[in-house]
Amino acid sequence: MQKYYNSFTDYCKNTFQRKLYRVALDANMTCPNRDGRIDHRGCIFCDEGGSGDFAIKYTGQSLTKEDLIYNHQDADAGDYIAYFQAYTNTYAPVETLEHLFSSALKDSLFCGLSIATRPDCIHEDTIALLKKLRQEYPDKFIWIELGLQTIHPKSALFIRRGYPLSVFDACVDALHAIDIPVIVHVILGLPNETKQDMIETLQYLNTKKIFGIKLQLLHYLKGCDLGRLYEKDPSLFHVLSLEEYIDIITDCIGYLDENIVIHRLTGDGASDLLLAPLWSMNKRYVLNQILHTLKIKNIQQGSFIHKCV
Ligand code: SF4
Repeated sequence: MQKYYNSFTDYCKNTFQRKLYRVALDANMTCPNRDGRIDHRGCIFCDEGGSGDFAIKYTGQSLTKEDLIYNHQDADAGDYIAYFQAYTNTYAPVETLEHLFSSALKDSLFCGLSIATRPDCIHEDTIALLKKLRQEYPDKFIWIELGLQTIHPKSALFIRRGYPLSVFDACVDALHAIDIPVIVHVILGLPNETKQDMIETLQYLNTKKIFGIKLQLLHYLKGCDLGRLYEKDPSLFHVLSLEEYIDIITDCIGYLDENIVIHRLTGDGASDLLLAPLWSMNKRYVLNQILHTLKIKNIQQGSFIHKCV
C-alpha cells in the first residue's frame, strides 16, 4: 500500500516490530511561563492543565495496565511509552528528575520515555542526567519533545512563548550531542500566520535533523487567554475551516523532510473545553480527509522538496 507520510505507527512497526502507545503522565511540574520566572499567564493557548488534561498523576510509583484509565489496556507490558506531558517536565531539581525518569525507566510497563519540555529548561545538569540515564538503561529509549510552535518572532511574541529561536537551536544541538532524539511541536493556524509562514517553520526544522514532529491545529480552548479573547470577540480571529486546514497540512507534509516521523497530524484537546474549530472533534474524519487529499493531490512527505531541487 502506498505510504503518503512517515507515520509514528509505521515507525514503531519498522523499528520495534509492534505498535507503541503513549501513557500521558502528570509529574506535578509547573512551568516558568506560569510561576512568574518568565510570566504568570502561560502561553496564550495553554489551559490550566498545562496541556496534560488526560494525564495520570505520577510520582515514581510502579504502574500496571489497570492504572491506564485513559489508555487502551490491550497492549503488553513494554508496549507503552512514559509520556511526561503536563507542563514543563525538566523544570525541577535534577534529583527530582532523576527519581521520576529512572523510576519510569525501571518500570517494565514502559519501553522508553518521551519528555515534553521547553528548550530554556534544559541545562547542563539536565543534559548530564539524560546522558547518564541513556547509559544506565541502554535497552530503553529517551526522547525529548520541545514546544517550539513557530519560528516566527512575531507569532512567538503573540503566544508568549518566552524564548528566542536561538535557545531552541542550542538545545537541539546539546541533545543531539548526547544522541537524544528530538520531537518538535508545531502549531498550524496561529493568528496572522500564512500558509507560507507555516511552511517556513517546517523548512527550518528540515535543517535541524530532528527525529519527529507533532503538527497541531490551533485550538481555541476555554480556560486559556486565547479562548477568553475569542469568546469576547470571535470576529478578531480567523479560525481555519476544515478545507483550509486540509489544504495547509497536506502542503506542509509535501515540504517536510521524509525522514522526520510525524507523531501527530491534528489536535488532541479535551472536547468539553473546545470552543473552535468544532469540526476538529471528528478526528477520524479529519485524518481520512488528509489521507484522501494527499492521494488526490499526489503528495508524499517531502515530495515538494525533491521538485525544488
Ligand atoms: S504550553 Fe508549555 S510552556 Fe507554555 S505555559 Fe503551557 S506548559 Fe508552559
